[in-house]
Amino acid sequence: MKLYPLFANLDGRRVLVVGGGVVAERKVAPLLAAGAQVIVAAAASTPALRNLAAQGRIELRPDEFEVNWLDAVWLLVAATSDQALNRRLAMLAEQRRIFVNVVDDATLSSFHVPAVVDRAPLTIAISSGGAAPMLARLIRERLEALLDPSLGLLAALAARWRERIRARHPDLAGRRRFYGALFTGPVAALLRRGRSGQAEQATAQALAEPPQMTVGSVVLVGAGPGDPGLLTLRGLRALNEADVILHDRLVSAEVLELARRDAVRIAVGKEAGRHHTVQDDIHRLMLEHARSGKRVVRLKGGDPFVFGRGGEELEFLRRHGIAYEVVPGITAALACAAYAGIPLTHRRHAQAVRLVTAHCRDSLDALDWAAMAQERQTLAVYMGVGELETLQTGLMAHGRAPETPFALIENGSRADQRVITGTLADLVASAARHAVHSPALLILGDVAALAQRLSWFGAEPV
Ligand code: SAH
Repeated sequence: MKLYPLFANLDGRRVLVVGGGVVAERKVAPLLAAGAQVIVAAAASTPALRNLAAQGRIELRPDEFEVNWLDAVWLLVAATSDQALNRRLAMLAEQRRIFVNVVDDATLSSFHVPAVVDRAPLTIAISSGGAAPMLARLIRERLEALLDPSLGLLAALAARWRERIRARHPDLAGRRRFYGALFTGPVAALLRRGRSGQAEQATAQALAEPPQMTVGSVVLVGAGPGDPGLLTLRGLRALNEADVILHDRLVSAEVLELARRDAVRIAVGKEAGRHHTVQDDIHRLMLEHARSGKRVVRLKGGDPFVFGRGGEELEFLRRHGIAYEVVPGITAALACAAYAGIPLTHRRHAQAVRLVTAHCRDSLDALDWAAMAQERQTLAVYMGVGELETLQTGLMAHGRAPETPFALIENGSRADQRVITGTLADLVASAARHAVHSPALLILGDVAALAQRLSWFGAEPV
């Protein structure tokens, strides 16, 4: 079936819906949203429909359907469970050249109702021509996830400025360039951040200024621990818009696959012993690409602000006047705990969680061991695989019980996740026995024992 796509202006126009059940109810809502005058013909109707009638928002006709009602309407929706009646309605509509939608019957319908992504005034309608409504729904869900809610505001802003933009850029090519920058640049970014006033100012400024070099921006995105399902919708949108992606080596291939096909992907990140140069390189790359007008995503494992040097990167960007945004990610402690079945807090066992890094000797010396050894708290130790011995002796020396349970989660949330459990006294020996490798997170505290009972993902804990 080849359909001609059409957006109908139903404002103030009459539409007849025959049928008063939940299906009719579902059909009525978008008609009302479009401003149609809805008449519902049904002997019996749902409470919601009766309610709408009581509020005067629809007209409810309980009488027997009369053919001449069709003369006053623009569209007909047949939403009864009576097949014969539906068929008759379709035929009557056809004779009168009124478009009819027969619910769940593509062949009887002369118009279809698409799956809709609503970013009013922007509307995206999807149809499979009746071939596969479920596929249309799936695509709708994908687009829903992909398209930022602020797009509607962006469309409305464009409408408000349309005349002024046309006057300033009378030539089509110039106008295209201007809109391109408006829809993908700082104005769109300000709307995403909820700064409508500033977006308005930025639009005025862009119009006043002579055409200038486009400015790029950087979005710091937390990629989560590995499972691509743990990426946020906002993170996904940023990946879809990125021209350049600077990603840590820890970021999983599955997450990277979600990015725009033609985005340039550059692996950056730590190799042992080269930390300073590496961080400088990252800064240089961000600056270079942003200055050449690119939308850069700086993609980091977990959350960018948890042991991720996100703060330093923002300070650098601020210093160089590059616009930025931050999208949080699911940090390793939250992900590993969830995927190992370990609640980080628990009314009986732990009232506090401490995120700690045991990265190198200096930072270990700076740790507050006495505080870390306290009972009734959970420790989540990042980058600790190489320092388990120091952790074990330090915590025990400061009074943490040798029988305190631990869980080491290696490759948390990934297909090859391993969970090793035991007690503090045995931490070093069991990590060695199971050859635990980075990335691994140590969870220490009474809650760690719950992994044995509550585990649900990947291999059973050992
Ligand atoms: N910003 C990141 C942490 C970076 S530090 C975050 O918020 O998660 C790197 C450390 O994080 C690793 O040494 C390890 O301890 C931990 N880590 C990151 N991803 C992990 C994963 N999938 N499984 C286990 N630990 C992980």
